[in-house]
Amino acid sequence: MSQSMQDRAAALLHHRAAGLQKGDPISLPIVPAATFHLPEVAGAAHIYGRNGMATWEAVEDQLALLEDAACVSFPSGMAAISAALFATLKAGSKLIIPADGYYVTRVLSAGFLVPFGVEVVEIATRDYADFDFSGASVVYLETPSNPGLDVLDIAEVSARAHAAGALVIADNTTMTPLLQRPLDLGADLVVAADTKAPAGHSDVLFGHVAGRNDALMGRVRDWRRLSGAVPGPFEAWQVHRGIETLELRLERMCRSAGVIAERLAAHPKVRNLRYPGLASDPSYAISTRQMAGYGFLIGFELDSETAAEKFLSDCGYIVQSTSFGGTHSSGERRARWGDKVAPGFIRLSVGIEPLEPLWAAIHAALTDF
Ligand SMILES: *Cc1c(COP(=O)(O)O)cnc(C)c1O
Repeated sequence: MSQSMQDRAAALLHHRAAGLQKGDPISLPIVPAATFHLPEVAGAAHIYGRNGMATWEAVEDQLALLEDAACVSFPSGMAAISAALFATLKAGSKLIIPADGYYVTRVLSAGFLVPFGVEVVEIATRDYADFDFSGASVVYLETPSNPGLDVLDIAEVSARAHAAGALVIADNTTMTPLLQRPLDLGADLVVAADTKAPAGHSDVLFGHVAGRNDALMGRVRDWRRLSGAVPGPFEAWQVHRGIETLELRLERMCRSAGVIAERLAAHPKVRNLRYPGLASDPSYAISTRQMAGYGFLIGFELDSETAAEKFLSDCGYIVQSTSFGGTHSSGERRARWGDKVAPGFIRLSVGIEPLEPLWAAIHAALTDF
């Protein structure tokens, strides 16, 4: 991680200090308030719970430090993605989305944007490199793609999208701002599910939109206030606590994922392994240029659906769940959701378990069948 990101991670732990009065709690208070003392409106820090409230603002301060940009928080990743799309599209707009990205974004686009007159074009992440963006209003990208882990060049794609007159929205969920910085590479908005690594404990949904264009961020803020997609104070508090250890957890998760990817790739039962940090991976060169770490997600195939299911249920240190980025390692067979992957394809999210016991459990489960 660069010196400036280390500085940001350190500042994050002390971000409330300057505002503390003698006797204030060091930890973040949960402020459950829909209404506020309002003898007059002018000058009030808070007006009504849908407009803004202290506990989510503390999370936005943390995220703003990491993103180096304004941040608006949402009650889930999809709420953040919806806000970014509804803030930038209108009838007649053309939207480019990844055919191999997070599938709910495609379902949302097909079910709600198309009926409002938005033209939605799905292309594979690897095809962004030579796709003609003429006529597009928004180029939405996700890199590494989820679950296939293909990588695109954010700076190159953003430059061509801008030349074509389009805005760029980047879903940065799999990386977080500590590992990849789409706004620095030219994206206009970042969207992310803080449900994953930032909250980190698989017990809360949360999301945010980040950006450096005041007018765009104003639209995103208006969308939240008017649509009512506001986070709850307790959920915000959980995320605030999670983000305090994000840098520490990522360091362990990425280091372990690198070692496990290498060992899995060398295992005779494992095929077509994808991890951006393996020198043999097709995305290694661009990942090395563009990312400050290679992440904690590994994709690989076992022989069949049966072999993959047996591996997952036999491995004592992999919880079988959808989602990723939690303290515990987790995995699932993505074909069960209809992703266009082989029946034996597993997406593994490496957690914070000490490496060798985790590898021993993975290795034993691979030996079992
Ligand atoms: C999980 C995820 C989302 C959606 O987040 P929720 O908090 O579940 O709404 C969006 N994009 C990506 C890449 C994700 O992994």
